[in-house]
Amino acid sequence: MQYYIGAHVSASGGLENAPKNAAAIGATAFALFTKNQRQWLAKPLTEAEIERFKAACAEHGYTAAQILPHDSYLINLGNPNDEALEKSRESFYEEMRRCQLLGLDRLNFHPGSHLREISEEASLDRIAESINRALDRTEGVTAVIENTAGQGSNLGYRFEHLSYLIDRVEDKSRVGVCLDTCHAFAAGYDLRSRELCDETFATFDRIVGFQYLKGMHLNDALKMRGSRVDRHTPLGEGMIGWDCFRYIASDPRFQSIPLILETPDESRWAEEIATLKRFSE
Ligand SMILES: [Zn+2]
Ligand SMILES: [Zn+2]
Repeated sequence: MQYYIGAHVSASGGLENAPKNAAAIGATAFALFTKNQRQWLAKPLTEAEIERFKAACAEHGYTAAQILPHDSYLINLGNPNDEALEKSRESFYEEMRRCQLLGLDRLNFHPGSHLREISEEASLDRIAESINRALDRTEGVTAVIENTAGQGSNLGYRFEHLSYLIDRVEDKSRVGVCLDTCHAFAAGYDLRSRELCDETFATFDRIVGFQYLKGMHLNDALKMRGSRVDRHTPLGEGMIGWDCFRYIASDPRFQSIPLILETPDESRWAEEIATLKRFSE
């Protein structure tokens, strides 16, 4: 059992550049977009692209358990509009399918937004149905729901939202969650000391369960607790502070899953990763 620590790296110029970029900063995990995250369409993956990606992962020692792909920001699986929902569902399926072809075993996504047109519960029901449909059409890839800051009408800012979705997913073996520390803090969960981390993660375990944890996003938060504003800062420079990141990088409940930085200053990732690795020793 070990800690897998890395960052959300660029895959521009070819997916095989993601593992290369991760290795260059001393990462033992990485996140990536498998297509342009701001566009609906992508060219289908070619055999050659798939082989180059797999070869680069093997060369740098990354297995699927160390990789946390993230889906496009355009997708809203809880969209109140049927036509828009269908477009999101098709795109989400394509993303799950790309992960499957690349030999990846999980896809991280934001649950969705009700756009103030339907209730939270009605939107969550749409999200659960969206997950079920994607799982039906793919194999071997776990749908990993990320908690959110609750900005705008985004759902997933309460642990109860995550458990509500899991309860409604038919194949429990292929649903999981990714906790983002900035999002949790912005949503009101305190993480500013060991004791507060103990409390927040005990609440998470009671409501969701650590068995569903398939990844973490390690980000400090610019705005105060409960602000519901999603703004990341480098570790130790925000309102959360180092105690939380020392806690996560040295608690065995966070071993064997990707721990991913999405902090804003890429030039500091190597240093942030090195610091987290020291905590984990
Ligand atoms: Zn995210
Ligand atoms: Zn995140």
